[in-house]
Amino acid sequence: MRKLIILAVACVLVLAVVPSAQQPDALKAAADSLGAAKINTLQFTGSGANFSVGQNFTPTEPWPRVTVKSYTASINYDTASMRQELVREMGTVMPRGGGGPFTGEQRQVLVVSGNDAWNVPAAPPGAAAPPAAPAPAAAPERMLALWATPQGFVKAAMANNATTRKTKDGTEVSFTVGGKYKMTGILNAQNQVERVQTWIDQPIVGDMLVETTYSGYKDFGGVMFPSRLVQKQDGFPSLDLTIASVTANPAVDITVPANVRGAQPPPVRVESAKLDEGVYYLTGGTHHSLVVEMKDHIVLVDTPNDATRALAVIAKAKEVVPNKPIRYVVTSHHHWDHLGGIRSAIDEGATIVTHQSNKAFLERVAKTPHTLNPDRLSTSKKPLKIQTVGDMGKLTDGTRTIELYNLTGYEHTGDMLIVYLPKEKILGEPDAFTPPATATTPLVVTAVPYAAALYDNIQRRKLDVKTIAPFHGGRTTDVTELAKAAGKSATVSQ
Ligand SMILES: [Zn+2]
Repeated sequence: MRKLIILAVACVLVLAVVPSAQQPDALKAAADSLGAAKINTLQFTGSGANFSVGQNFTPTEPWPRVTVKSYTASINYDTASMRQELVREMGTVMPRGGGGPFTGEQRQVLVVSGNDAWNVPAAPPGAAAPPAAPAPAAAPERMLALWATPQGFVKAAMANNATTRKTKDGTEVSFTVGGKYKMTGILNAQNQVERVQTWIDQPIVGDMLVETTYSGYKDFGGVMFPSRLVQKQDGFPSLDLTIASVTANPAVDITVPANVRGAQPPPVRVESAKLDEGVYYLTGGTHHSLVVEMKDHIVLVDTPNDATRALAVIAKAKEVVPNKPIRYVVTSHHHWDHLGGIRSAIDEGATIVTHQSNKAFLERVAKTPHTLNPDRLSTSKKPLKIQTVGDMGKLTDGTRTIELYNLTGYEHTGDMLIVYLPKEKILGEPDAFTPPATATTPLVVTAVPYAAALYDNIQRRKLDVKTIAPFHGGRTTDVTELAKAAGKSATVSQ
């Protein structure tokens, strides 16, 4: 994967290798109309919205919208670099669906240069800026976004022997970046780039379509540029901007920080803690899992992030419970960060236990093409085995019982299953309550209703919970702390 990204970028960097005279006429006309040859760097600003991809309330709803108060993209086409700065804004209530809870303003700085990608964290008040955070997995998406800008698309097409053909929508321009990433665009009758399609690897939905449409072209101080940009990922809007200003050839000097250059994802670490006899809490990363030993098999709850983490979690489950197969993998909800390794679970031969509203989505996920980054399921093509749960479900071997409850009144997602072991009084839950590092730190305001929903469900269903094992954060907790964080008076049943 890594090697291919480097190849891709190296190829794109060699711009304009094909002499202009040999370029298709439609491409030459677009280059003229957009001034592509004269633009080496470009900055554009705007405002609108971005959307939390993979975090919809149900698998059929659009991604949750977050207002973008200001957006600035600074691009250097010669060095294949782009810095995007966003100021996002949130009231006291989160939109329906997931995404990291915050209130007020949130500044994001997302950078790519060649095959390196990183984020610039905000400096805490009065303190020095922390070091750049390498984001190697984001490199292909950001690199393709840079070449999907109108001028970038024309430059990349000319550098990569693009072919053209007439369609009813306009002239279709196609080429492959680095022998791997396909790009297809439509040039309209005014020789403007109207639409660009690219595909990136996504662990769940596979070769994921990223489609950007441009409209309302106008002259921004000598540069023809669209006044509106709408990007969609996997069919739903992911970025929607109204452009305010465009500057041609500003100074854009983006240097890869030393700690980012060539950075690889940190090694996957899975740690296990025994919560009770045959019950293990798997941590060590950003997302945790639960392992429950049954008479002749294992039940695993959540295979998060991606195939790499999922395979490590599966291996750890078999290590803490040796010589038993993983027969069931419960997926807590469909959000992509928790579902990332589901294809590894299907390949493992496990029956996937999920809320009934996810059935159609998982059926699609089990069959999506993964040509950009093939996983084990791409080869094994094992069929999906699925067991759905409505309001509640139960897994039992006659001795141990695992109860699954749909978390109701919960705006984060409609399909959340919390996992309850009545005998051990253990409750596993993702996202509803992530205890802060210390018990005295209050929750982010927008996260309080989630904690309240969990507390209400525990009360309403009369669950006698001794230990809460959250799927985020660094520690287990209890109902007393949950009640306090949720702003409830702690009428704890036990
Ligand atoms: Zn979630």
